[in-house]
Amino acid sequence: MRYARMLLPTLKETPAEAETISHQLLLRAGLIRKLASGIYDYLPVGLRVLRKVEAIVREEMNRAGAQEVLLPAVQPAELWQESGRWQVYGKELLRFRDRHDRDYCFGPTHEEVITDLVRREVHSYRQLPLNLYQIQTKFRDEIRPRFGLIRGREFIMKDGYSFDATEAGADETYQAMYEAYGRIFSRCGLRFKTVEADSGPIGGSFSHEFMVLAETGEDVVVSCTACAYAANLEKAQVAPPSNPGSDPPAPLEKVYTPEVRTVTEVADFLQLPVEKVLKTLLYETEAGVVAVLLRGDHEVNEVKLKNFLKVQDVNLATEAVVQRETRAPVGFAGPLGLQLPLYADHSLRSTANLAAGANEDQHHYINVNIERDLGIREFADLRQVAPSDFCPRCRGALEFLRGIEVGHVFKLGYKYSQAMNATYLDAQGQEQLMYMGCYGIGVSRIVAAAIEQNNDADGIIFPVPLAPFQVLLVPIAVNDTHTMGVAEPLYEELTALGLEVLFDDRDERPGIKFKDGDLLGIPFRVVLGPKTLAREAAEVRHRRTREMQLVPLNALPGFLQDRLRMEMLP
Ligand code: ATP
Ligand code: MG
Repeated sequence: MRYARMLLPTLKETPAEAETISHQLLLRAGLIRKLASGIYDYLPVGLRVLRKVEAIVREEMNRAGAQEVLLPAVQPAELWQESGRWQVYGKELLRFRDRHDRDYCFGPTHEEVITDLVRREVHSYRQLPLNLYQIQTKFRDEIRPRFGLIRGREFIMKDGYSFDATEAGADETYQAMYEAYGRIFSRCGLRFKTVEADSGPIGGSFSHEFMVLAETGEDVVVSCTACAYAANLEKAQVAPPSNPGSDPPAPLEKVYTPEVRTVTEVADFLQLPVEKVLKTLLYETEAGVVAVLLRGDHEVNEVKLKNFLKVQDVNLATEAVVQRETRAPVGFAGPLGLQLPLYADHSLRSTANLAAGANEDQHHYINVNIERDLGIREFADLRQVAPSDFCPRCRGALEFLRGIEVGHVFKLGYKYSQAMNATYLDAQGQEQLMYMGCYGIGVSRIVAAAIEQNNDADGIIFPVPLAPFQVLLVPIAVNDTHTMGVAEPLYEELTALGLEVLFDDRDERPGIKFKDGDLLGIPFRVVLGPKTLAREAAEVRHRRTREMQLVPLNALPGFLQDRLRMEMLP
């Protein structure tokens, strides 16, 4: 491509609205422009990068046996009413009406549409398993679109869905997708971690997220420094305590605690360490109000709580509910005398002499003993893991890292096939539900994630597999006929060899061309000028290492091909 004719508007200044490095560089290097909040134009160079990601995704999905389809972005409400999600999806779903007043949405995901297609076309076990995917525009009306392509409202996703006759078959498909995802992210040149994620009602280890490690990531990854255990924060387990407390129990006593409400206030007032204060949280669920007990220094994990209670929703009780249940103002709730099911985090097992609210204005109990004084219905892992905790598998030290979720594989089970009646006839002629899985990749998010990981003060440093161009060819002066007499045929030759070359044929100063080239992050820069040509050579500079060398013109094509091959990764 010839630079002079391209729509490639680079910016000198960092746009004020861009908080993360990828957002800044995508704008500055002229890859994207914002149309509206969370909605972007892809300019020619940005689109080239996106297409590179798509090509890798497509190749690996096909290789893993999935078939590409393209489903409509606009979806009729009836399908979502059938699955029940029209009511529960909430405001992220962009809904609208057509001229006949029929309801539609712009697809944020495609479980309903694919299940509808498959239930109409697949009837026999002989047609299974089936694994279909697409690469397509999604719309989610995110509450907080931000970081450019990382959390857009309109974005490109690869979404895949598998249909198996049996759960065992679905497990195999899941494994194949899991492995394909590993290959995809490695081929994109990303440093990533595969983590266990919450699998909701299915349970087990059948949801994994693929996290690109980056400081600006919105997700927290908990990873063991000694073994392979890694999970996202909401899923990360906490091992039960190895040595339960052994304080000799003291007699229960009610004490006057004026205006002392929070855990820290109670600890200060009673001169106790915070872990000796019992936190009593009331939660409303569709199955009623429950009380959750934790150590004062621990935080509840609502995802774990929801899964443990097997409910759809958990919400911290409102002030009115707390007052009704405890008959005391907020801040004095405690487990003693509370007429609610009590669930305790397992770190509290057989702990002694804790302080707890007395369900009475201005009063707390001291010396509460979990086993002696309370009828705990069940102990469970209900809290958020903390940096001081140990690995649940090997008791090694944990580290907390930040990550950007670029992919998600998930066993869906019968959720949609049941709601939408997607069945097949087995070998005995019996009607059976199909077992489903779903597999998402944030294709446009990968473009941003790759830049988050690969940049320096001068701009982007694209991994070769994602680079919009592999070679930037810079003639020092486009008015110099000798230089251009070499540069033009060289451009043609390299292009004919299949190299992707951006030919900077602009009549600009070399400094400007070099700055733009660095900003764009093209892996190899080849400079031609009177000085290099006097030696029948070109100056080749590697963007990442900045290493420079003179390469004889006749050896240049081979040199570039070899170096690029070396950097193409797996
Ligand atoms: P998140 O927790 O980041 O909102 P999600 O759980 O809603 O993600 P999925 O429904 O699993 O995401 O979507 C599949 C993939 O699509 C994600 O792994 C992510 O890479 C990408 N993705 C999701 N939401 C967005 C968005 N708003 N902008 C860009 N990519 C997105
Ligand atoms: Mg989301």
